[in-house]
Amino acid sequence: MKPEYDVVVVGAGIAGCLAATALGNHAKESKVLLIDRNPRTEPGKKTPLGWICGDAMNATHAEFVHERLGITFGPPEIENHVDSVVVCSPDKKVSHPIEGSGFLLDRPKFARRLLNEALRTGIEYQDKTQAVGLLTEGDSVTGVVCQIQEGGHTQSRKITSRIVIDASGMSTVLRRNLAVRSYIEKEIHKDDVEPTIRMNARLADDSKVDASRCEIYLDSEKAPGGYLWIFPKSSTKVNLGLGVQQRRSDKPLDTLLKEWIADTPVLRGLTPLEDDGNAPGAWPVSVRHQNDSLVANGFMIVGDAGWFPNPISAGGIGPAMTGGVIAGEVAATALQSGDVSEANLWEYNTRYVEEYGKKSAALEAFRIYLQTLNNSELNYGLRNFVTNKEAVAFTFGEIPEMSLADKIVKVALGLGKLTAFRNLAFSVSKMNALNQLYGEYPKTPSDFGEWKKKADALLNEVRARFR
Ligand SMILES: Cc1cc2nc3c(=O)[nH]c(=O)nc-3n(C[C@H](O)[C@H](O)[C@H](O)COP(=O)(O)OP(=O)(O)OC[C@H]3O[C@@H](n4cnc5c(N)ncnc54)[C@H](O)[C@@H]3O)c2cc1C
Repeated sequence: MKPEYDVVVVGAGIAGCLAATALGNHAKESKVLLIDRNPRTEPGKKTPLGWICGDAMNATHAEFVHERLGITFGPPEIENHVDSVVVCSPDKKVSHPIEGSGFLLDRPKFARRLLNEALRTGIEYQDKTQAVGLLTEGDSVTGVVCQIQEGGHTQSRKITSRIVIDASGMSTVLRRNLAVRSYIEKEIHKDDVEPTIRMNARLADDSKVDASRCEIYLDSEKAPGGYLWIFPKSSTKVNLGLGVQQRRSDKPLDTLLKEWIADTPVLRGLTPLEDDGNAPGAWPVSVRHQNDSLVANGFMIVGDAGWFPNPISAGGIGPAMTGGVIAGEVAATALQSGDVSEANLWEYNTRYVEEYGKKSAALEAFRIYLQTLNNSELNYGLRNFVTNKEAVAFTFGEIPEMSLADKIVKVALGLGKLTAFRNLAFSVSKMNALNQLYGEYPKTPSDFGEWKKKADALLNEVRARFR
C-alpha cells in the first residue's frame, strides 16, 4: 500500500522545523507532515515550564540557514546582538574573550517564526500529536504510532510514511526504541548528559551587565563538571543558568542556582521572568559527539535526538539548525530517487560531519579532561598555561599551535601541577587523532564498522584515563 506521507517529521523544535522547511522547498511534490506533542502556539517548548535554553547562538548558523533557505532572522526573535563570549577562571582573575558575532533569542518567538517558515512552504502540520513508537517492516521504518489529543480525548493513530525524521529532542522514544538494523546508537552514557537549569531575569535597579558580551564561568564547586553563564538580553535583562555533571554534584540544581545568585553581586535582588509562558526550569543537554550514524532505512535523526550540542559549550541551537537543513535536503533527494535506504540517506552523515560534526569527538575528549580539573588547577591553567589564542582554539576543537610537551614541563614542573598538564598533553594528542579520523568519515555504510572501531577505541582511551 502507498504510504500516507512521504515524510513525517516528529518534533517542531528548531531541528524539525528546519528539516520540514528544507523538504518543503526541495520536495514540492512530496507530502510532508510535521507533528508536535504541544499545542500550535508552543512549538519547541521543551517542558510545560518553558523553552528551557540559554538562548545564545553564534551568527554563523543563521548565515548557513540564510544561504540554504533564504531566511533572515531579526527582531523580534533576536533580542540582542553580542560580539564575544568571555570565559572566566573560578577566581575571576583571568578571562579569555572569544570574539565572534552572536545573538540572544526570544526563544518562544524564534520557535513560532521557525514553524511559520515551515508552514509557508506548504507542508502539513498537526499539533497535540505525540509519537509513541515507530512502525517497521523488516529492516525499514515505515511510519509512526501517535497519540492525538482531541476534545479532551486521546486517540491512537498509525501514520505511514517513506521516511520518519526524529527531531523530538533529548526525550526521544523513537531513537531509543529503534527496532531495525542500523548503526545508530540507542542510549547515551549518563556521564555524557548534563542536567542544566536556567532562568530569564530582570536585574535589580542598581545592577547592570555589559550587553555586548556573554559570560561563562568555570567553577568546579559552583557547577561541578559544567559551567555557569550570564547571557545578556539587554543591560538589565539576562538569561542565567548552570549545568553540572551528575556524578560530580550532590546538590539539587535549584540549590546551586540560588547559592550562585546569592553569591554574585550583579545577580542579587533579580526578578525571575515568566513572559510568554517561558518560566525558569531545568532540562538535560548531551555533551558528547553526535551519534556516529544518523540514518537507518527510512529513518533519520536530527538535533538533540542525535546528540548534536557542542560537547564543551552545550550549544545545540546552531547544530540543530545546520543538521535540520541538511537532513531535509538529503531526504528530498532520496525521495526524488525513490530510494530511502540507509545507503542512500548516508549522505546526511557525511554532509553533517563535514559541515559541523567533525570536531565534536575531539571536543568531547577535551570536555572529559576539563571535568577532572579542580578550581586550583583551572585558575592556574587559565592564568599560566593557556593563552587567549589557545583558549579560542580549544573552544573550536582545534589544536593550538604550540609545543605542548615543552610548555608543560617548563611551566608545571615543580609546581605540583604536572599531572594535570600531562593529562592535557594526552588529551591534545587524542584530539589530534580524533580530528584526523573524523576527516576520514566513511563515505558508505559498508566502511563504517572498521572506522567506528577506531573512533570508539580513541574515545575509550580518554574515558579510561579520566573516568
Ligand atoms: C538549560 C539549557 C540551556 C541551553 N542553552 C543553550 C544556548 O545558550 N545555546 C544553544 O545553542 N543551545 C543551548 N541549549 C541546547 C538547545 O536548547 C537545544 O540543543 C535545542 O533546543 C535543540 O533543538 P531540537 O529541535 O533538536 O530539540 P527541542 O528544542 O528539544 O525540540 C523538540 C521538539 O519535539 C517535540 N517532541 C518531543 N517529543 C515528542 C514526541 N514524542 N512526539 C511529538 N513531538 C515531540 C517537543 O515538544 C519539541 O517541540 C541549552 C539547553 C538547555 C537544556
